[in-house]
Amino acid sequence: MNTELEPGHYRPNTVSSSGVTVAVVPHLIDGKRVETSDRTGTVFNPATGERQHEVPYASRQQTDEAIAAAAAALPGWRATSLTKRTDVLFRLRTLLTEHRDEIAAVVTSEHGKVLADAAGEVARGIENVEFAAGLTDHLKGEYSEQVSSGVDVHSVKQPVGVVGCITPFNFPVMVPLWMIASAIACGNTVVLKPSEKDPSAAVLIAELFAEAGLPAGVLNVVQGDKEAVDAILESPTVSAVSFVGSTPIARSIYERAAVAGKRVQALGGAKNHMVVLPDADIASAADAAVSAAYGSAGERCMAVSVLVTVGDIADDLISAITERIGSLSIGPGTDSSSEMGPLITGEHRDRVASYVDAARESGAKVVVDGREQGFDGDGYFLGVSLVDAVTTDMSVYTDEIFGPVLSVVRAETYEEALAIVNENQYGNGAALFTRDGGVARQFEFDVEAGMVGINVPIPVPVGSYSFGGWKDSLFGDAHIYGPESVHFYTRSKVVTSRWPDPATSRIDLGFPANG
Ligand code: NAD
Repeated sequence: MNTELEPGHYRPNTVSSSGVTVAVVPHLIDGKRVETSDRTGTVFNPATGERQHEVPYASRQQTDEAIAAAAAALPGWRATSLTKRTDVLFRLRTLLTEHRDEIAAVVTSEHGKVLADAAGEVARGIENVEFAAGLTDHLKGEYSEQVSSGVDVHSVKQPVGVVGCITPFNFPVMVPLWMIASAIACGNTVVLKPSEKDPSAAVLIAELFAEAGLPAGVLNVVQGDKEAVDAILESPTVSAVSFVGSTPIARSIYERAAVAGKRVQALGGAKNHMVVLPDADIASAADAAVSAAYGSAGERCMAVSVLVTVGDIADDLISAITERIGSLSIGPGTDSSSEMGPLITGEHRDRVASYVDAARESGAKVVVDGREQGFDGDGYFLGVSLVDAVTTDMSVYTDEIFGPVLSVVRAETYEEALAIVNENQYGNGAALFTRDGGVARQFEFDVEAGMVGINVPIPVPVGSYSFGGWKDSLFGDAHIYGPESVHFYTRSKVVTSRWPDPATSRIDLGFPANG
């Protein structure tokens, strides 16, 4: 079934506890909602375990239709004046701000994170729209007059073409906006494939974009899984791919897109370390560790999952963290008293919990076991865990758990702590807590991570910088959003020109030399 876009925008129906209405989350292809595919999946409410929506999984043919719509919209959009493109982005910013609470509610209902956190995600996504709205500045070229007698050179930045954007479940609003705001501002057209676990927000954003004046076909949304991703990777019409997700998939997307000759950036998983030096303020470090380890149930790529204590502060810091854990409020994201919601699926919750057993069996000390906190109902809740005496060969350390489990690794010296961070396979973010500016500066110089926090536990850069990790946290050379996104989503062209007097024209077979 195809539905022309109605005035207003898409709102997923909420389902009652008796499960009366299950809305279908549509694809959005060439400005039309498409609600059917041969295969479908179910979107659950993680706080209740209820079946909430059905989501069609795009076939290869449907994905190709979305790619064709994006290709058809490209000539018109890339020729649209920068002023008109800027207008659309300003209107989108207004609409996202006006609908912030509504968008946050959609995120909470499908992802589970608490409403305040979801609203924060929308705000961080709006930052990317604000950056992109400066496109008349970002797209400026360069000009050199008289590089040779009567010869001038200038450069322009042109769109790369049709861009495929593939996003993870954990930030269903912010991560799509990391990509699509800049891609569209730069004159590209887009096929967005959001996570099948929380697909509604992408449709909501795309329809707000349409309401802001974006022509049909410039931003298409295909729902689904690997089949849709394969179609994007294999289409000769797609020129560039932006991906954010887990490391094994990121690596494979990078390799396959590169072999197909596409420009690609693929951001992967993380294991972020927070190093606490003996001179740090224990209470502030404990507050930061609890916030960054357990916020959004640890399902953030910038979550702190390893605490590296230096010297003799470990016991004091662990007791300060344990005390704070005791007063954390875990419950449905819609409850304003909840500080942490459920995990995304029951399967993921069980996988996260299994790491606590594995840690105990391998000799670590489980200080707080999240499974001991019981929860009523069928939601995917899990209490938070704190594991001490972790060593770097244990699975609780080596694997990205992506849940509310904080490992403590004890180091004797700064050098030992630094070596632990740098030897880890991931390099997304790293934080240092200290009052010593000299050591902080040295850490900034030494640490192998793309984003560094000094007394800041989640150093997600503001929208005017770019976001990206090192090592197995990013495949490709361009970080996402901010200035590097303008570079990623444009191709530069250099034009050399002269306007000679025909009377001076002559044949010259030599290689042109300047003069
Ligand atoms: P995921 O890798 O399972 O899925 C990401 C996307 O890839 C989804 O759209 C999914 O449908 C698709 N996908 C899944 N399997 C695929 C396959 N075999 N072939 C092609 N496509 C496939 O990740 P997730 O569980 O949705 O998200 C959590 C992960 O994302 C974590 O590892 C987290 O660290 C990472 N993440 C990283 C960043 C970053 O900036 N580095 C940001 C957010 C999330």
